[in-house]
Amino acid sequence: MREETRHVPRRSWTRGGGGRLRRRPLDGARRVRRREAERVLGPRAGREARGLGAGPRRLRADAHLGGGGSADLRAPARARRGLGARRVKYLAEYRQREAVETLARALRRRVTRPWVVMEVCGGQTHSIVRYGVDQLLPPELELVHGPGCPVCVTPLETIDRAHAIAAEPDVVFCSYGDMLRVPGSRGDLLAHKARGADVRVVLSPLDALSIAAENPGRRVVFFAIGFETTAPANAQALLTAKRRGLDNFFALVSHVRVPPALTAILATEDNRVQAFLGPGHVCTVMGTGEYEPIAERHRVPIVITGFEPVDLLEGLLATVEQLESGRSEVEIQYRRAVTRGGNAKARELLAQVFVTCDRKWRGIGKIPQSGLELSPEYRRYDAERELSVTAIETAESPECFSGQVLCGLKKPLDCPAFGRACTPEHPLGATMVSSEGACAAYYAYGRHLPRVAE
Ligand code: SF4
Repeated sequence: MREETRHVPRRSWTRGGGGRLRRRPLDGARRVRRREAERVLGPRAGREARGLGAGPRRLRADAHLGGGGSADLRAPARARRGLGARRVKYLAEYRQREAVETLARALRRRVTRPWVVMEVCGGQTHSIVRYGVDQLLPPELELVHGPGCPVCVTPLETIDRAHAIAAEPDVVFCSYGDMLRVPGSRGDLLAHKARGADVRVVLSPLDALSIAAENPGRRVVFFAIGFETTAPANAQALLTAKRRGLDNFFALVSHVRVPPALTAILATEDNRVQAFLGPGHVCTVMGTGEYEPIAERHRVPIVITGFEPVDLLEGLLATVEQLESGRSEVEIQYRRAVTRGGNAKARELLAQVFVTCDRKWRGIGKIPQSGLELSPEYRRYDAERELSVTAIETAESPECFSGQVLCGLKKPLDCPAFGRACTPEHPLGATMVSSEGACAAYYAYGRHLPRVAE
């Protein structure tokens, strides 16, 4: 017999003294969690009172996390209450209204002339637009949006090559979910799946390896895109495929590297960028050493920055301090994740499987030494060669100037197609195809809508 399930409220009412209803006390585990939250955040640490966003989420209780960044990058003392003064355990602490406002005031005091700063990562762009960080800045300080969105910069012909591979009858095509809706010339991967292609969403390249092991008679192709952040896991999958002798596993590789892209942006004739908020997650893997020659040669401050409002404003404050005082150094705001040396094990994996190569970036074009391709030892796993799709070339829409958006020369609202011919449902170009693209972020958070009178 099927057992009946019943909704049991986590916390319910009970009748107390005098017959009055009162809340049943929290169970032991919840009581411990509440006490811990109050110890860290204070007794009135309600989500609504603390956070900027609608519902900041707790990540995990990381006992090792220190707070507030390095001494020279820390928020002013009042903003640090709740950061450096206590052990940081909660994501919400990086969204605290008081800290954000204090940092914004400090920035307004420090800026004396116009500066243009580029945030490199798509995750940073998304956060800036989502929380309106750019709207808190003094008018002299302009933020432009960089090329650090992996889905956006994957060339259109690579998308078409992926679709051609997926359409092969003996292929199982494995991809992360964010590539499924990226349109190529003949629809997206979901459309190909509807036409009969075996397209599967995986959460890790190791899932694709398992599919290859379970289907020895079929060719299993993993779509390996992204920056230095995702490349080590893909390298590990290829190492494992080699060790296990999985000859039916292949990778369609379109990895890109950040430092050559920054150099290319600085070398453009009409470059406006004077400083960078550097890529926090990429530097978690790669460290900061590659950025030092760029800062020195081009005399640009590079502050490796996290992704929350307090991170971004701390990063901007450190950047402005450098700009105003004529310094151009690499600094780390995102100290809870980034060290100068990065992750040595991950870098070792990359060196075993990949070599650098010239790579085309969607909207920008070819950037020397900006990509990773399979080393000669691993070239037999190259899906483009195995399935003979290297001849496919595709032109971008002539209406789209996403390349100029990605280089900081234009903003999404400068584009006549934005929100009209080009929307997230029908993207014309790179920066609208992914939620981390600047055009998609502007659209998602209503930057195209008329402002209601205040
Ligand atoms: S709005 Fe669309 S067409 Fe315009 S730059 Fe952005 S992606 Fe390109």
